[in-house]
Order: sequence, then C-alpha cells, then structure tokens
Amino acid sequence: GRPAASLAPLLDGVTSRPGVSSEGVSWELDAPEERRMAVEAVMAWSALLETMSGRLRPCANPECRRFLLDRSKTNKARWCSMAICGNRMKARRHYQRTRDGATQ
Ligand SMILES: [Zn+2]
Repeated sequence: GRPAASLAPLLDGVTSRPGVSSEGVSWELDAPEERRMAVEAVMAWSALLETMSGRLRPCANPECRRFLLDRSKTNKARWCSMAICGNRMKARRHYQRTRDGATQ
C-alpha cells in the first residue's frame, strides 16, 4: 500500500516551524488540537523511517518547497525530483554559464 497518500487528510493544515538552538535545528509542530496526537504519531513514524532508510532534506532548488528522502549511500541527492528540479536547475546553470561567458 501507500501509507503516505492516506495520511494526507490527517496532515492537512499541519505545519512545522524550524527552531534553531545550540543543538541544531528542531521542528516545532503546529497542528489542530484535535489531531495533534495522531499527527505526532505520524511524525514519529516518519522520523523513524528517516533514520532507518534515508535522510530528509529540503530540495536544493530554492524555488521548491518540497523535501527529498536521500537513500543514496553517497548522501548526495539534492532534488525532490531529478525529472523536475534536477533538470531545471541543470538547465539554468548551463544557461548562466553560456550567458556570462564564464570559463569553468
Ligand atoms: Zn524540488
């Protein structure tokens, strides 16, 4: 099955805000009170998935708000989707190099 899809209604309206402290970045959950328990359970499950099978990080495209789960051993995945953001950013860098006439 695809548990992520069935979780969408539960997570609707839920946001998390990053808080920076001396220990790094932590996420503070902002959820409707009646769904908070369930949402926290989902977050715990999601965190478990993250530590077990990949690293969650923001997409390297600054215009993109999505996250990616990096499951590569080299830890170098940068795009939420190679087909969307990966190709777009590569094309943009190529365009800038061409336009600026920079040597690289
Ligand atoms: Zn992206």
